[in-house]
Amino acid sequence: MNIDGLRNATPGTNDVNHFNNAGASLPPHIVTDTIINYLKEEARFGGYETASRHRQSIEDTYSTIAQFINAEANEIALLENATAAWNMAFFSIGFDDGDRILTSMAEYASNFINYLKLREQVDVQIDVIPNDQYGQTSVSALREMMGPRVKLISITHIPTNSGLVNPVEAIGKIATEHNCLYLVDGCQSVGQYPVDVEKIGCDMLSATGRKYLRGPRGTGFLYINSDALPQLNPPFLDLHAAEWTGQETYKMRDDARQFENWEANYAAILGLKEAVHYADDLGITNIWKRITKLAEKLREKLSAVPAVTVQDIGQNRCGIVTFTVDGYAANDIKGTLSEKNINVSTSSQNSTLLDMQQRNLKEVIRASVHYYNTEEELGKMVNVLFPK
Ligand SMILES: *Cc1c(COP(=O)(O)O)cnc(C)c1O
Repeated sequence: MNIDGLRNATPGTNDVNHFNNAGASLPPHIVTDTIINYLKEEARFGGYETASRHRQSIEDTYSTIAQFINAEANEIALLENATAAWNMAFFSIGFDDGDRILTSMAEYASNFINYLKLREQVDVQIDVIPNDQYGQTSVSALREMMGPRVKLISITHIPTNSGLVNPVEAIGKIATEHNCLYLVDGCQSVGQYPVDVEKIGCDMLSATGRKYLRGPRGTGFLYINSDALPQLNPPFLDLHAAEWTGQETYKMRDDARQFENWEANYAAILGLKEAVHYADDLGITNIWKRITKLAEKLREKLSAVPAVTVQDIGQNRCGIVTFTVDGYAANDIKGTLSEKNINVSTSSQNSTLLDMQQRNLKEVIRASVHYYNTEEELGKMVNVLFPK
């Protein structure tokens, strides 16, 4: 990878050392320019008219995303964020009393809140799969827990903190063997990790644009396997998701876009498409290699400081590096770094409650690296906190 070239194409690298890529990455020029140009065109010619001019280009977003995750264009729905995508998938499942949901210790708060919300209406059983010795969802424990009442396996692939990468491919094999639905929260993995929905074997996967994909805020997508589609029933529809065919009838679309609604931010969608092209051109395997290498370097540097504890788990760790510093609140560390234009974020217990409680953590500092970060930047961050 030509890191200098990639940084030149990323204006933000001149202004900040950005380690909040798990929050929102710095977009490349091409993404920002695409959005701005489209908005200007809308302002001049009208929103509907501009969309109509760019119809094919907008349409290509589906195949671009599909190809990137090894899916088909009709298996992609564009939504405003990963949560909206995940919720549409989850609430389209017809749960019955007594059905079981198997989920991970690292589950994202919004997902778990919705298991609890569902349980207010349907008497589902929420079973949390324990971790293995590495801190990953235990595949052997999951195998033991399977049974006829398991309706859904719902797993966060890469959690918002802790460096963990859950073994979603091995979990997928079990889901396939038992013929139950399998939903993957790929919010932190798409754009960082080589996500291949066929290899994972999932029925549904949700993702966001602004995190590792380097797309704009307010974009996300949902993958729905076309074989799983007939089993799902979207919780609400509009005139884009379905057609009003008679006083007593309507006809739903027969592709993943039945989960969309009509109004969309086309400027942002085209920005997202450029971001996916950009990642695809670089090669997701190269991206993953570079990110994990930098993250390991950072863990090494941080571990060398006696006051620091790296709080990451898992066998193969990702670009999200989390740590605590003896005697300092996470926010103080974030503030100190921010004064030097170094961006990190913090993560508190209520983002991943089960995991953080089990490990007795209240909060962590999160430094999430991207391929455009440099070793020099890593060194600078550590030196600002712990001057030699
Ligand atoms: C950020 C995040 C989400 C939510 O994504 P949005 O695009 O903000 O809706 C879901 N799951 C995980 C693991 C996340 O890190």
